[in-house]
Amino acid sequence: MYLHGTSTINERNHLEIGGCDTVELAAAYGTPLYVMDEALIRQRCSEYMEAFRASGLKFQVAYASKAFCVMAMCRIVEEEGLALDVVSDGELYTALKAGFPAQRIHFHGNNKTPEEIGMALDAGIGCFVVDNAVELHMLNAIAGEKGVRANILLRITPGVEAHTHEYISTGQTDSKFGFDLENGAAFEAVKQAADLPNVELLGVHSHIGSQIFEVDGFRLAVEKVAAFAAHVRDKLSLVFRVINLGGGFGIRYTEGDTPLPVAAYVQAIAEAVKEQFGNLRYPLPEIWTEPGRSIVGDAGTTLYTVGTYKDIPGVRKYVAVDGGMTDNPRPALYDARYEAMLANRGGDPAEEVVSVAGKCCESGDMLIWDVKLPAVRSGDILAVSCTGAYNYAMASNYNRLRRPAVVFVKDGKADVVVKRESYDHLLGNDLIPERMLKVTRPV
Ligand SMILES: *Cc1c(COP(=O)(O)O)cnc(C)c1O
Repeated sequence: MYLHGTSTINERNHLEIGGCDTVELAAAYGTPLYVMDEALIRQRCSEYMEAFRASGLKFQVAYASKAFCVMAMCRIVEEEGLALDVVSDGELYTALKAGFPAQRIHFHGNNKTPEEIGMALDAGIGCFVVDNAVELHMLNAIAGEKGVRANILLRITPGVEAHTHEYISTGQTDSKFGFDLENGAAFEAVKQAADLPNVELLGVHSHIGSQIFEVDGFRLAVEKVAAFAAHVRDKLSLVFRVINLGGGFGIRYTEGDTPLPVAAYVQAIAEAVKEQFGNLRYPLPEIWTEPGRSIVGDAGTTLYTVGTYKDIPGVRKYVAVDGGMTDNPRPALYDARYEAMLANRGGDPAEEVVSVAGKCCESGDMLIWDVKLPAVRSGDILAVSCTGAYNYAMASNYNRLRRPAVVFVKDGKADVVVKRESYDHLLGNDLIPERMLKVTRPV
């Protein structure tokens, strides 16, 4: 397993993260356990901030909180000076309760409800990323009722889709998100937004995909957005002050993944912006980005206890852990690949190839197919790396498993930032109708 951030093998042959022995963490807090390397999260935040500062552009880096949204994380993002993207009332509530300044919150999503819009306007958030015409008019109306004016970006689909090593330029974009650039919907939306009294159009937003390893897709998106901005300026005498280029910067889950350093993405984007907008003699807009995975992904490690195993001679050996698709649905959802090691025997040589199964009643509940480990025994602590993004955020209570705790580790100290769910938590919202309460047999 590749050792990210502060991860090392200590003198006890244990995986250590943030100066904390993971075997001790597992004993103290139980497993499964999400362990987050706080120093690495902060390092990633500052890599973005520093790279943008060096570019000389005006900018905002908004952490896409959907990747991992808990109050302590909002605190870190606030302290590091980033902005924050939310996509629901729940994420907005989390951020506000954590004391995140509303002005630095951006609200995304393709189906914001009137209640969510009202809540965000009442809080005084910095910007709405408007996805479609229904939302545009609804936001204008609700802002009008409240006597406020909402800053907006219009989300456009630029006809660029990036997937890891490839990007494709599509003429017609079949997407549930945003106003289409090619078919004129985006231009029409700009025209309408400019005429609405209760919204202030700052510019446009484009997000081209996720887990992207190349800069070509971003360059192409900048080119398309710049051309659109120039078209709007020429036809409507309207100048965009902000261009948001979305997130999607890739991370290293496994050996085959070859992400660029954060600074390389930022530099490529900054150069493309200066060049493209410069060529069009367009006033350089403020550049916003929205990294999620690349802020928290490689900072997360999940610890599991190995339970049973099953060797099918000539086929494979299954090793089962005390979590699975409930704490990490990504392998089942997207065939996502992960690396792992035995945290309690960190430096031991790998001796066998096993497949790591979860404990849910689904054949598809597999965490890793074929990983090379030392001979695995019951009671070993298995560490799966790169689980910081879209793991806790996507966790479920399937099979009535209780969601794990999350601890932040730094400088030898561990802080629980999310408690492990209790049985009471599981039953917290269950109700038994009165008519079923009659006890017919001893319990
Ligand atoms: C998901 C998403 C992001 C973050 O993507 P990552 O791959 O986690 O960086 C940013 N912006 C938008 C609009 C998104 O939907």
